[in-house]
Amino acid sequence: MNFATKAIHAGIEPDPTTGAIMTPIYQTSTYVQESPGKHKGYEYARTQNPTRTVLQNNLAALENGKHGICYASGLGATDAILKLFRPGDEIIASNDLYGGTYRIMVRVYQEFGLKFSFVNLADPAALEAAITPATKMVWIETPTNPLLRLVDITAIAALTRARGIRLVVDNTFASPYLQNPLDLGADIVVHSVTKYLGGHSDTVMGAIILNDDDTAQQLAFIQNACGAVPGPQDCFLVLRGIKTLHVRMQRHCENAQRVAEYLQQHPKVSRVHYPGLPDHPGHELAKRQMRGFGGMLSFELAGDRMDEAVHVMESFGVFSLGESLGGVESLCTHPASMTHASIPKEEREKNGLKDTLIRLSVGIEDVDDLIQDLAQAIG
Ligand SMILES: *Cc1c(COP(=O)(O)O)cnc(C)c1O
Repeated sequence: MNFATKAIHAGIEPDPTTGAIMTPIYQTSTYVQESPGKHKGYEYARTQNPTRTVLQNNLAALENGKHGICYASGLGATDAILKLFRPGDEIIASNDLYGGTYRIMVRVYQEFGLKFSFVNLADPAALEAAITPATKMVWIETPTNPLLRLVDITAIAALTRARGIRLVVDNTFASPYLQNPLDLGADIVVHSVTKYLGGHSDTVMGAIILNDDDTAQQLAFIQNACGAVPGPQDCFLVLRGIKTLHVRMQRHCENAQRVAEYLQQHPKVSRVHYPGLPDHPGHELAKRQMRGFGGMLSFELAGDRMDEAVHVMESFGVFSLGESLGGVESLCTHPASMTHASIPKEEREKNGLKDTLIRLSVGIEDVDDLIQDLAQAIG
């Protein structure tokens, strides 16, 4: 099956009791047994829920993986992966990681004895230098937030595979429509389902997709034993959202490309970070690794005044100011004062994050309205 057909059909059968074409919301905590231990495969809803099972199978198909496992949030999924490791194990992650991922690693699991190092994974040589005999996992995001840097999954997988190190890719920004890390050599894919997969800014959820049976069994054990499961209503909403994932992503990509090109020629904009622009340093890699350039971009206003960036965001009429991304509606954030405010200004600028940087999650509204909104807000 091709992607669009999988989005609508993979893992989904009409309900056997009624023929309902939409997967029912099994809003139940327990299942009646005929006699102790004699049941239809469902005992208790933390352990299994039919709505969740259908979603998990659908997600596995979208990532060309064997197993899908859902959690109550993206960070719930990350938490489950980190529980695979033991004190003394070393994990290498990229140095421009999603803030919440950095926080759970350093503030929670470092306290329990896991060791983390953060390196520039756009440079495979830097990764090679950071690997030690205790290295058990490499964690990457691509494209990264908020500068849309590209990391070469195939090149990093070649390094990790040869050493028996697990490679995890957070595929939230690309979505499975644009990129399938398992096909490129990654061992585990993690998603904040909250973003493009859900797609309508109405659910918080996470997922892990992988091929290895033993690891999948461990992660399913953690899902049940630790209990961060999504509810059936949320699973239904995500199943519904995924049915239009391919159509939404096409429009996100088209709109973001137009917005990036508009911003690039704007005299008050000094720089645009979007992998779809030919002068983006990751453009060629994005063409090899992704099937489109995505709906996320960021841009810098000329000059150095944070108040001007704030003024632009306050002036928007169609773009809303808010955390998160990947919904049908356009959003903007100001990384320097929001997601990355805890990093000192000097450190931020060293990593290329300027005070005038605005990040956009380009939605699927009419692109002319989006461009008009940018024009009036930037002035
Ligand atoms: C939002 C996000 C997460 C965390 O997911 P939640 O669903 O908010 O817990 C992880 N990685 C990336 C890239 C994200 O954007």
